[in-house]
Amino acid sequence: MSGSRTGTPPAEAAPAGVPPGRAAGLLGAGVLRAWGPGLGLAVAACVLLPAVLPAYWIYLAVAAMVGAVLMQSYGVIVGRAGMMSLCQLSFAAIGAWVVLRLNLADAPGGFLLWLPLGGLAAVPVGVAIGLPALRIRGVNLAVVTLGFAVSTDIVLNASQFPGTAELKALARPALFRSDGAYFVLTVLVFVLLAIGLAAVNRTRVGRSWLEVRHSERAAAAHGISVTRSKLTAFAISAFVAGIGGGLMSGQLGLVVSGNFAMMQSLALFAVAVLIGPHNPEGAIAGGVFGALMATLLDRLHLPQDLGGILFGATAVLALRSGMSQTDLVRLRRRERAARPLLEAASPTTPPTGPPTDPSPSPAPASPPVAGAPLLEVRGLGVRFGEVVALDQVDLTVPAGTVTGLIGPNGAGKSTLIGAVTGFLPGYAGTVTLDGEPLDRLTPSARARRGLRRTFQTTAIAPELTQHEYLDIVAGRALPEREAEQILAFFGCPPAAVPVHILDAGTRRLLDVAAAIAARPAVALLDEPGAGQSAAESLDLGRKLARVPERFGVSVLLVEHDMDLVRAACATVTVLDHGLVIATGPTDDVLADPGVRAAYLGTVVEETL
Ligand code: ADP
Ligand code: MG
Repeated sequence: MSGSRTGTPPAEAAPAGVPPGRAAGLLGAGVLRAWGPGLGLAVAACVLLPAVLPAYWIYLAVAAMVGAVLMQSYGVIVGRAGMMSLCQLSFAAIGAWVVLRLNLADAPGGFLLWLPLGGLAAVPVGVAIGLPALRIRGVNLAVVTLGFAVSTDIVLNASQFPGTAELKALARPALFRSDGAYFVLTVLVFVLLAIGLAAVNRTRVGRSWLEVRHSERAAAAHGISVTRSKLTAFAISAFVAGIGGGLMSGQLGLVVSGNFAMMQSLALFAVAVLIGPHNPEGAIAGGVFGALMATLLDRLHLPQDLGGILFGATAVLALRSGMSQTDLVRLRRRERAARPLLEAASPTTPPTGPPTDPSPSPAPASPPVAGAPLLEVRGLGVRFGEVVALDQVDLTVPAGTVTGLIGPNGAGKSTLIGAVTGFLPGYAGTVTLDGEPLDRLTPSARARRGLRRTFQTTAIAPELTQHEYLDIVAGRALPEREAEQILAFFGCPPAAVPVHILDAGTRRLLDVAAAIAARPAVALLDEPGAGQSAAESLDLGRKLARVPERFGVSVLLVEHDMDLVRAACATVTVLDHGLVIATGPTDDVLADPGVRAAYLGTVVEETL
């Protein structure tokens, strides 16, 4: 299956960026290029392995494929969503139980129908286990899921799977009765799941997993419901694990509690961290390793738990490097493909002279009525314990403008953005957008209403391409042309370039480009000029000045760099110690003696 799903960046980027009409043709070519080798391998394995392998090895091959399906469930929850779930085999046990129960009852439909039913039965349990994940993460989540795995162990040990007492083994479908034929069935199920999961990964929810894994704050700022993102990850991974459990009962005829033991869950988790089963080749490798390791330990008369310990030790290494083996391989391949693009594009836009503007962009969706108050902040107050970060702050961002918000370090600028965008609930005062109060809304709801923010420290998932990041933040698949245009406007390299090879300054520009690409009513930018040279800052200021007219987005700009502020903002508000000390036309305010006094010490005097 190597070289599939996210294999070559152009193949993946193309379908996301084309309108539905042309998508079909490109999709066909892209999908063929991405999936062709993997599907070819699958067909070859189905034809060759049952014909040439001795019976025992065919049995092992089935075990490997069942393991690969279980790995796919780890791929969703651990690989994509980054949650530490240690109870995937408990979901598998539910799938196995349902399939065996239906088998015992001679339910209609047969194994091929019972299999997805087993998967579905695991879904509500997956969602229930996912609920604590809304509040806790990391090791704490691992403890909760481990607790569930342990209690499932206890229940399973105390009872038997259906059919055990009656000695009624699972009846495989006539077509897949032999081990060789059953191997073909497991490959089919794996391929179907891989295609389904790849499709899910392309949806907004699927992409949101990557962002939630990287930064829940950033995800919320982009209008992503973290709750929905996490619960769907649990639901889908439980479904896949349930299918895996069902397949296992088809493999063994009858299962025992030991097949789903908590220690096995742990060992598979370690394998998942190490290998990266969200990539199909990783899932296969995990399944094969698992099957071979079990056999090897068996042959050497060693306890099976030793395998888990070995994998656990190696997984620690993977955790330290922060990336699975298959991700590393793919990242290097992407990087090799993107380097020429990066070198072909001019590294940065000319820092002096008029701002570069390679091509016209589409007209804004709804041109704002210039001058009418759009974002209004009244009497805003925020306290952190004894610290009064904001006190009775009034601020207006009129439609069609770039409004500056300046002030020395610690003045409360970032706090204002945090309160306005819903990250600091419980503030005093009111925030309205286009006359609608926002005060009761969550950050993601405010984002969907038309507020987008950037953070002072950028948090962009490095495994994304720039285009994929734009799509996540904008909440829609941007056409290729639009993505390239907006990136070029802000001086970022071509859309297919992966984020991890961008320097910090370019990532900040990408963050700004993405916030604007979402076409919010107001973009709140927290020091976008940080990390840029003086000339680049000035260039950015000139570009920001044109954002309202060009993209239909009004801007609240928090900045330190006075040249940038002068270039971008017609009006500014000055904060000092949480109080507004001046507001008005930029040049007047910057000439104000009070403002100059507040700034002395933080900015060289002659720049004011
Ligand atoms: P600015 O962005 O203007 O540099 P901030 O808004 O980050 O300033 O901070 C304003 C004040 O609030 C500072 O005194 C800062 O120490 C304090 N502050 C900000 N965030 C927190 C927090 N989470 N907890 C406690 N104090 C905070
Ligand atoms: Mg700040």
